[in-house]
Amino acid sequence: MIEGLRHILFPEVCVACRALLNSGEHLVCRSCFTEFAPYPGPAAGGEALKRVIQDHFGQAELPAEAWCLYPYRGSGRLHEAMHSLKYEGIFPLGNLFGRKLGELVAASRRVGFDAIVPVPLHRLKLVERTYNQSEKIAEGLSEVLGIPVVKHALVRMRYTGSQTGLSSTARRKNVQAAFGPGRQPSPARVLVVDDVVTTGATMVAAAGVLRGSGALSVSFAAVAITEKT
Ligand SMILES: [Zn+2]
Repeated sequence: MIEGLRHILFPEVCVACRALLNSGEHLVCRSCFTEFAPYPGPAAGGEALKRVIQDHFGQAELPAEAWCLYPYRGSGRLHEAMHSLKYEGIFPLGNLFGRKLGELVAASRRVGFDAIVPVPLHRLKLVERTYNQSEKIAEGLSEVLGIPVVKHALVRMRYTGSQTGLSSTARRKNVQAAFGPGRQPSPARVLVVDDVVTTGATMVAAAGVLRGSGALSVSFAAVAITEKT
């Protein structure tokens, strides 16, 4: 009753298509979730993510396990949603995607980690954006899996700027030395979380630093993977 009244007084629109949300829908409408075209089954997205890492960085950099929700084409409704998560302050969407990722991880029955580490933003970028979208995704994962988020095992040392348009070698150069160990030691089995993966350079660099500060196994989870067009 109160929910129904709230809906009439403050109608919410879908962040991806701007259509009015129906009662029971939150941030993204059902039609958009269908339109996002998730990878089929709990394993396919992770396999796609591993393929990207293998193609760009070889076998040695493969994560222990990997999960991903959506292929990302850089336009369309998923693009609108990711844009509003990153740049328009719609951070609860990060929690929502994180919970979906958490369900995917739980369904795979391969929860081989005891801490969730979001890819950090540089402190200046954090001031500019006011929140770290990867941290919001990590919080959603944590909620579903009951595994803690560790925010200070990793710091971003350099302001790397946008990676858009860079080749994988250039991206790797751009993020190498971008991260350093934080004030917390790395937990032994870590899940590194980011929003969108393109070549995997960011995750590979983050994993390298975590291994250097105590991680024995590193897995990756991302909301989406940029598909070659
Ligand atoms: Zn929609």
